[in-house]
Amino acid sequence: MVEASNFIEEFINEDLASGKADCVHTRFPPEPNGYLHIGHCKALVIDFGTAKKYGGICNLRMDDTNPAKEDTEFVDAIQEDIHWLGFDWDDRFFYGSDYFEKTYELATGLIKKGLAYVCELSPEQFKEYRGDLTHPAVSPFRDRPMEESLDLFERMKNGEFPEGKYTLRAKIDLASGNFNMRDPVLYRIRYIEHHRQGTKWCIFPMYDFAHPIQDALEGITFSLCSLEYEDHRPLYNWVIDNCDVPSRPRQIEFSRLNITNTVLSKRNLRELVETGVVDGWDDPRMPTLCGLRRRGYTAESILDFIERIGVSKANSLVDVGLLEHCLREKLNMQAARRVAVLNPLKVVIDNYPEGRTEYFEFPNNPNDPDAGTRKLPFTKELYIDADDFSENPPPKFFRLKPDGEVRLMSSYIIKFGHVEKNPDGTVKEIHCTADLEVGTGVPTDRKVKGTIHWLSADHCMDTTAVLYDRLFTEENMNDLPEGKVFKDFLNPQSAVIKDGAKVEESLKDAVPGEMFQFVRTGYFTKDSKNPGQFNRSVSLKDGFKPAN
Ligand code: ATP
Ligand code: MG
Repeated sequence: MVEASNFIEEFINEDLASGKADCVHTRFPPEPNGYLHIGHCKALVIDFGTAKKYGGICNLRMDDTNPAKEDTEFVDAIQEDIHWLGFDWDDRFFYGSDYFEKTYELATGLIKKGLAYVCELSPEQFKEYRGDLTHPAVSPFRDRPMEESLDLFERMKNGEFPEGKYTLRAKIDLASGNFNMRDPVLYRIRYIEHHRQGTKWCIFPMYDFAHPIQDALEGITFSLCSLEYEDHRPLYNWVIDNCDVPSRPRQIEFSRLNITNTVLSKRNLRELVETGVVDGWDDPRMPTLCGLRRRGYTAESILDFIERIGVSKANSLVDVGLLEHCLREKLNMQAARRVAVLNPLKVVIDNYPEGRTEYFEFPNNPNDPDAGTRKLPFTKELYIDADDFSENPPPKFFRLKPDGEVRLMSSYIIKFGHVEKNPDGTVKEIHCTADLEVGTGVPTDRKVKGTIHWLSADHCMDTTAVLYDRLFTEENMNDLPEGKVFKDFLNPQSAVIKDGAKVEESLKDAVPGEMFQFVRTGYFTKDSKNPGQFNRSVSLKDGFKPAN
């Protein structure tokens, strides 16, 4: 017996013990109308992860019953993303639409049993006739003779009627307190081409009818889904009880993942893509798995995040800081250190000989002695970050300032000489002298407090660095002030572009996904679309305090 670590596993253990289930067979059913996001990731980790924990299996099923907006681009991307996370389905890859024939047959079976009928209320009438908590629904076609419903249903399938003219409804309970049970629609007419079935079908089953049938036909024992399906569970069970299906899956619901400063609705994400607010589904600011990957998130850090948020039944809002923290924590141990100067400012060392090059040793990762060291060239002309110099420094400014001294990382101490300005008054370059005697040693006669990073102007590479930040300024994007829409809260600083940044020459061989810490600056990876660009995955500063 596997020890349960959440309520889903407790239910599973009960059913295995009582013999209601003889194995753990789950499925992950994404709708191929968009890319997977971090919310789906929670669901798929639960589906694949629970099966794995019990030595069971998990099917991947494209939930393509609804023909609108589905696309093979999404089908391919979904598989790539799941593989990237490290899960696999062997040959258990299915399409919901492959069961259209069987689902139609089972619907016909319900009509024959007197449990379904063809209704001809318009969608507007359907709403109007729904009733309320004190009044049952009204369904004028409920007692249509079985033969007539059978005939009409077949003709619906044959394309004899326009969209909206007829639906097939289950005959359950017009007075039920659960509105999903008030004779729900099972089939509707849609003249729309299906990405796999073409124009073969013009009637399509509703999710609530198709899903339990697909689960049962695949022998799924535990159908794990998010909380909004809880009210649909009685209907799920009704379908299983009344259709002639080979097995009896159990639906268990868990809470959806919501994250601060993030939208996870596919509809909203699609709108960001279609209106060009972001650069595609894999824009590094998107919460999609491909976006996070392009941003520099590793599969390991995402899985760590999912594990830490746990599985619960209560909806909650998770701090995006936790996701960033999980990445930072891994990269702090793993990422190679490199020097990058994002806002280059030229420094000339007046007392350093022209044409001379010296090499100074830098650790590749102070947290990992095995990572070794590398040497960086030092020359008369250097770049430092403009932020590391101030002409009118605030108190406690320990970087370069008039008459001040500062340590160049792993190298000389330099003393300020003078500033050369451009005609417009901006700083052109700074002249300094280096303490060539003390070198990398520590002076005995004075204390030098600050250390700044630098690159040789003759030995560096130009790049564009993009400093990514949260896409939205509002914490709870699920609860916006009245009259506001999600796009009102876009963060104008979500992608700050630093053209003309300088990096170590060694970075010319970097590959996308290879992670670096640019010292004192943040964690970066090479962009997968623009070879001359580095993306900031996450800053160094960690404002997030995990509870334990
Ligand atoms: P959306 O409402 O954004 O369109 P969806 O739920 O319709 O999302 P699907 O492709 O149908 O998207 O989702 C596949 C699975 O992922 C479902 O089982 C769904 O419950 C689950 N899922 C989707 N979003 C989340 C989330 N934020 N947290 C947990 N599970 C989720
Ligand atoms: Mg869905």
